[in-house]
Amino acid sequence: MSQVRTRIAPSPTGFPHVGTAYIALFNLAFAKANGGDFILRIEDTDQTRSTAQSEKMILDALRWVGLDWSEGPDVGGPHAPYRQSERKDIYKQYAEELLDKGHAFRCFATAEELDQMRAEQMARGETPKYDGRYANLSREQSDKLAAAGKPFVIRMRVPDEGVCKFDDMLRGEVEIPWSQVDMQVLLKTDGLPTYHLANVVDDHLMQITHVIRGEEWINSAPKHQLLYKYFGWDMPVLCHMPLLRNPDKSKLSKRKNPTSITYYRDAGVLPEALLNYLGRMGYSMPNEAEKFTLDEMIASFDIKRVSLGGPIFDVEKLTWLNGEWLRSLSPEALKTKILDWANDSDKLTAIAKAIQPRINLLSDAVNWSGFYFQNLPTISEVDFEHKVLSTEQTVEILQLAQWQLETLPVWTEENIQAVLSGLAGEMGIKLRDFMSPFFIAIAGSKSSTPVMNSMYLIGADMTLQRLRHAIEVLGGVSKKKAKELEKRHKALPSFLTP
Ligand code: GLU
Repeated sequence: MSQVRTRIAPSPTGFPHVGTAYIALFNLAFAKANGGDFILRIEDTDQTRSTAQSEKMILDALRWVGLDWSEGPDVGGPHAPYRQSERKDIYKQYAEELLDKGHAFRCFATAEELDQMRAEQMARGETPKYDGRYANLSREQSDKLAAAGKPFVIRMRVPDEGVCKFDDMLRGEVEIPWSQVDMQVLLKTDGLPTYHLANVVDDHLMQITHVIRGEEWINSAPKHQLLYKYFGWDMPVLCHMPLLRNPDKSKLSKRKNPTSITYYRDAGVLPEALLNYLGRMGYSMPNEAEKFTLDEMIASFDIKRVSLGGPIFDVEKLTWLNGEWLRSLSPEALKTKILDWANDSDKLTAIAKAIQPRINLLSDAVNWSGFYFQNLPTISEVDFEHKVLSTEQTVEILQLAQWQLETLPVWTEENIQAVLSGLAGEMGIKLRDFMSPFFIAIAGSKSSTPVMNSMYLIGADMTLQRLRHAIEVLGGVSKKKAKELEKRHKALPSFLTP
């Protein structure tokens, strides 16, 4: 058998998600347990959502947690480049190959035409699906339209009957009827590939032997299987991991829980403990150990030990496990861990700048800057009392702000400022009053450093978690109220200047 090669293929469209580290961990453990290689590829074909900031955060976070790749955009390797935006020409050539072989066709439908098609299908009670309207255009006609400059996408052909069968390492044979599979766009009007084409081409060219990914991709498997067949390539072995869940069983989302690796780092979780906890998500060690290292996990790794019941990512259990790790250290080692954790030079400089106008003794720094390092501040309802804002208004402000801030594509002070002052304006509340509860929620005190800057410095997930905590301290939001606020949230304009 050829050398085992696995990969993690994150899309740099947000914060480094714990789910990415979880999938990366199982890919790495599988590769290492089989004497293979684990590589990293950046899937940034969605140019509108991908950012360099996100890519950097993802790489930094995966490395912090202790998952190392032997090939990737930052370290290079024999299959470079490892960033899909730098491989555009490759995909185009493969899309054209499928076109020439008759496995794909050009579709000239406009966005309006497709919207109308979907609306009609929905009106008939059908699931919207591309109806094949350009699938039978002759090659000559298609070439003519393309030569005349009519915009098109390239779609793959899909059998209209029968069942697609493929093997999954955890699920055995999976069957999906072809009627449920759409004639997927492979190449977009701008000549860029979609995830499906780029992913299959790269997994093949990068000689990936096993694709271990989240179960949300299972419905893509038929399209991928077909593409491998069209190209005449062997398909890697597939393995779809169960999704991480919130304690209420819903899909892990930042609405309810911090999901970014940087939050857990900043809250003071050890990377070893986070990896250990992720290693227990749906997996158990042969000796049932709760606390184990990455090397121990690799030494006895068996993917068949993954169980499919949705693993619960429970912050309290993680905190408990982290405590076990901390207590197993010598005081000397613990001291080093604490110093290393706090010693983020850029952050410390920014904090120094923020407290400088306010301190007279170096020792004053302790009280002024404590909250930057805390997880959740110690606060109660009375701290929020305010001369013009009622408790109800305060909750509304915090909840709407939480949801607005959640949607920020990049976490910058300007964006935080734009969203909060925009929201204050929409709610008809003076900015000075509007900002008051944020001082309590974020810094735990009415007198503190400028709070938007503090939010920026403590990071998105930490900010959101403190806002959630403040809302809870104030008695939470009832289901009815949440619905009403959700409506208001959705009706708000975008506060960011494009
Ligand atoms: N870019 C995809 C993601 O963001 C990769 C999915 C896969 O592993 O095939 O998860």
